[in-house]
Amino acid sequence: MSIRVRFAPSPTGHLHIGGLRTALFNYLFAKREGGTFILRIEDTDEERSTQESVKAIYDGLMWAGLTWDEGPMPDGTIKGPHSPYYQAQRADQGLYKKYIDDLLARGLAYKCYCTEEELEAMRKEALANHRPPRYDGRCRNLTKEEQAKLEASGRKYVIRFKMPKEGTTAFDDLIRGHVSFENKDLYDLVIQKTSGYPTYNFACVIDDHLMGMTHVIRGDDHISNTPAQIQIYKAFGWQHPIMAHLSMIHGPDGTKLSKRHGDTSVIEYKKQGFLPAALINYLALLGWSTSDSQQLFAPGELEKKFDIKGCQKSPAVFDNLKLTWMNGEYIRQMSIDALYEAAKPFLKEAAIAQGVNEEKLKNIIALEQEKYKTLKEIPGLISFFFTDKVEYEEDVIEKVLKSNDAKAALKLIETAYSALDNWTETALEEIARKTAKENGLKAGQVFHPLRAAVSGRSHGPTLFKMLEFMGKDMVLKRVGDAINYSVS
Ligand code: GLU
Repeated sequence: MSIRVRFAPSPTGHLHIGGLRTALFNYLFAKREGGTFILRIEDTDEERSTQESVKAIYDGLMWAGLTWDEGPMPDGTIKGPHSPYYQAQRADQGLYKKYIDDLLARGLAYKCYCTEEELEAMRKEALANHRPPRYDGRCRNLTKEEQAKLEASGRKYVIRFKMPKEGTTAFDDLIRGHVSFENKDLYDLVIQKTSGYPTYNFACVIDDHLMGMTHVIRGDDHISNTPAQIQIYKAFGWQHPIMAHLSMIHGPDGTKLSKRHGDTSVIEYKKQGFLPAALINYLALLGWSTSDSQQLFAPGELEKKFDIKGCQKSPAVFDNLKLTWMNGEYIRQMSIDALYEAAKPFLKEAAIAQGVNEEKLKNIIALEQEKYKTLKEIPGLISFFFTDKVEYEEDVIEKVLKSNDAKAALKLIETAYSALDNWTETALEEIARKTAKENGLKAGQVFHPLRAAVSGRSHGPTLFKMLEFMGKDMVLKRVGDAINYSVS
């Protein structure tokens, strides 16, 4: 069997972490099996679907590197034989209508004329009587005459699917195992709205069938839709795809992941300086693991190792700290050229180091490559190389600029460095050590004020490398400024 899976987002908002994870698991499942990964846009909600959201889906998937084999492309072209891949376009072509008409003709669906007010009253009444607030099937057995009368009175109708009232609907879920629902708990769901558009549950079944999906991998929040969808497959005599419902993603407090937990759009992670590969690595482990709990994956490794059997049933907890740690790991593994390229937009945004020689900038960025956790923090950590005036940390003011000993050490180093022509890391260190020794000081008594004077900080990159990259003029100027800094 050649695997066909899809990511079928509704373009009604940003692409979120949960959506990206669903896309990823489908993508990995397809890749591992040499199958096809399809993108289908489920835009049958006319009021809430927007082109902007479609763009966010394209941008998010592209940035994350989850390219699809079939579906609409951002440049307007279409890949694959099942075009169109937008459900609204499919609806406009009357594609769902013929299946609806077929169900109506076979008495498996019916027109329902209930108004919003009637439905609301029905819900209230059910709740008052401790019944689930569901449609009670009152239009199920209307006679032709009754229907004609209602239509003549100007009533609009939706079309509902006749669910069986007895028995069970069961399926074997690849993650959840055997799942069974009592049919008495199902209700006659709307499959066509008053606008003539199909609803999600209906269009999804028709398209999954027509597009030849072998597996449906989606969030657990859809598991309650599955028995209804299976009944629709049955009504057409179709076999349903194999189901796999992914556990929900929770925030650290155990509630469904939301904005409150930082579940912003995928593109926001890009803006915050996360690397797509790190985010993907992290998301892969959100509800899935290898038997040996591998944490970091080399490029291409996830595609080989992903096994849906390793997916857990219980909710996965989104842990921003772990994601940030992982991002740092990925940053550390980058070549300096790659890191430089990735950091560039952030430097530009922070208006730092514009026009600085590329080699020099690469050297400066590399100085603290070990420490970066996100790309976004890079400008702030290297900005002291490029400012005219050093900003001193509180600690530096207290312990260096207010200290006569520290100032005296800086004066010694100022004299020694003024005479130095061989401005290299090794020479700079040698002289600093020599100066300390000759004046009966410990190395730290010179190194620390020196670092503080040139960077304004008490911690930072390797000191003498930093001095080499800054150059003689800048170092002497900063040492002089620190000596002359008057603490009022
Ligand atoms: N359009 C649905 C959603 O975005 C897709 C559900 C499914 O995968 O069947 O939630």
